[in-house]
Amino acid sequence: MMENSKALVVFSGGQDSTTCLFWALDRFNEVEAVTFDYNQRHSLEIECAKNITKELGVRHHILDMALLNQLAPSALTRDDIEVKEGEDGELPSSFVPGRNLIFLSFAGILASQIGSAHIVTGVCETDFSGYPDCRDIFVKSLNVTLNLSMNAQFVIHTPLMWLNKAETWGLADTLGALDFVREKTLTCYNGMIADGCGECPSCKLRQKGLNEYLKNRKEF
Ligand SMILES: [Zn+2]
Repeated sequence: MMENSKALVVFSGGQDSTTCLFWALDRFNEVEAVTFDYNQRHSLEIECAKNITKELGVRHHILDMALLNQLAPSALTRDDIEVKEGEDGELPSSFVPGRNLIFLSFAGILASQIGSAHIVTGVCETDFSGYPDCRDIFVKSLNVTLNLSMNAQFVIHTPLMWLNKAETWGLADTLGALDFVREKTLTCYNGMIADGCGECPSCKLRQKGLNEYLKNRKEF
């Protein structure tokens, strides 16, 4: 536990950011969460994020980012575009250029307003689907930029950066949150909570990781 410290968690209500929320609650004595509302395909995502923060007693900020939909129509924000998996090395159809850049910048502004020196995000380079602004080098670069832009001393934490999905389940388990994350988070592109539809790319990745983790649980 870090004394006298406050963290802001970038929170979507999905598996990764919920694991990060538990990670932050374990380490910081004050934790708040921020969710970006950009007309997600399923407003259930926002509901899910609200329910989780309420249950965990975490102050929850929801920022209206509808302008992102205007700038970058994609499968996550428009119902008429099908979600497709990217071929090897290609970006998936859900790609919104610069989305994480925008989110982390707004998180920095909010963090400065609420007096939080720590920002936690669940971005990950290991299983990552090709988003350049989820890479470690980008996050480190933005950290410097945020500090320069606000004359601040933020630290951006990325606890999942080098974990695969199985290891992310392992981290949730270590934090005593495996069942919570499994039952209450929403990752599915088809808007089904918990284990989801089982067929979309996101569900497949989540399920594969869970199976791997549970199979090797004793070894973790
Ligand atoms: Zn699904």
